[in-house]
Amino acid sequence: MHLSFPDPIAAALPIIERLREHHFEAVFVGGAVRDTVLGLSIKDVDIATSARPEQVLELFERCIPTGLQHGTITVLHEGETYEVTTFRLESAYEAHRKPESVEYITELDGDLLRRDFTMNAMALGLDGELHDPYGGVQDLKKRRLRSVGDSNARFQEDALRMLRAVRFIGIYQLRPAHHTWRAVLQHRHLMGFIALERVQVELDKLLAGAVPQRGLRFVAASGLLFHLKESLGPDIELAMKEAGQSALSTRLFERLHELADLDLRWAFIAITLNQPAETASYALQVLRFPNGRSKRIAAVVQMHFDMLSSIKLSHGRELQKQWVKLVLASGNAAARDWLQVARAAQVESSSFSKELLNDLERWLNEITILSLKQLSVSGRDLMKHLQREAGPWVSECLNRLLFLAAIGVLENEKQALLQEAAKQQ
Ligand code: ATP
Ligand code: MG
Repeated sequence: MHLSFPDPIAAALPIIERLREHHFEAVFVGGAVRDTVLGLSIKDVDIATSARPEQVLELFERCIPTGLQHGTITVLHEGETYEVTTFRLESAYEAHRKPESVEYITELDGDLLRRDFTMNAMALGLDGELHDPYGGVQDLKKRRLRSVGDSNARFQEDALRMLRAVRFIGIYQLRPAHHTWRAVLQHRHLMGFIALERVQVELDKLLAGAVPQRGLRFVAASGLLFHLKESLGPDIELAMKEAGQSALSTRLFERLHELADLDLRWAFIAITLNQPAETASYALQVLRFPNGRSKRIAAVVQMHFDMLSSIKLSHGRELQKQWVKLVLASGNAAARDWLQVARAAQVESSSFSKELLNDLERWLNEITILSLKQLSVSGRDLMKHLQREAGPWVSECLNRLLFLAAIGVLENEKQALLQEAAKQQ
């Protein structure tokens, strides 16, 4: 099969040329080749070579010895970075994870043999010819994900490959080969050997695709997440099991892809699994989410459950007040995040009708003041005007004024605010 080079690969040709001038073998490998075959846009361009890392370092002026022990050198060329990795075997696998040491080899096919799936074990040379010893193209045509070699052995070597399998099935809309899927089910307990940070990275990639619900379905069917180093928590595990068994599960996540923002997709999942902010936060923490992200996701989930209680108790103007209070407490950004999630989660049976969500959005847009900083009086002004000492009453009073200004009962104007404060005393 002959391929024409897409721009990102063409841009890296000088690196291959230089290695070849020095009589080393050098080819494009990995995701870039796979995505070129599929006609998709390319993320990063990886190169494999028979040159040893020290030789690569000598040939290129600007490089970083990123993974010197594993044979990877990052080469900088015209503002881009490329990982150049020496052909290698990964013989000694330790504890079902990536090996500590590697053995360099001079043959490309040996290097391709260590790769996880046939579609990731293709190489593209300078002449544009695809080298595909394990039938990656054939598998892609059949939309099939298949291990290179024996799946059982490959998943036992490195258990992360099972999660990669589920991710690729989801993102590229593949079906697993029979043997490959059986091996996932058989070896899923080995997930306990994998660092949770790496699980998180895979799940993020899986969820970021165009059809995240497909990946989720296979995550559920695989049971991989029930065998992590640490449990995501009993409630969430139960909810995942129920959702996985329910015939409704495809419909539950039907509109997940409508959310462009990855964090909101996570929030959507927590809400759909009916997990309150605490259990969602716990699971995110287990998955080693950065604090900022997990806080943002939890804020959306919290808002959802708060609003669920509010709409049971109130409507109309009273509901508007509840909503404004919540917006002041959680912030405008969380409110807008939640509205997006609630819209995507909106199905016929949903507690939040389209009309209600429209009302909430309109009310949100009408709020002209969102924080104490924007209020036209300060604590000092209050103390002076009311001739009172500092105390907890100051912030209580300020917050009350903020609320009244936010719902439009009071103008955000100094005299009006001070008058109201005096009245409240
Ligand atoms: P993407 O970059 O889209 O996430 P990718 O296939 O490029 O997907 P990388 O993690 O960048 O994935 O790895 C590059 C290549 O290295 C893969 O295509 C595969 O050939 C090989 N590879 C990566 N991880 C593994 C692994 N755990 N086991 C075997 N081979 C792997
Ligand atoms: Mg890649």
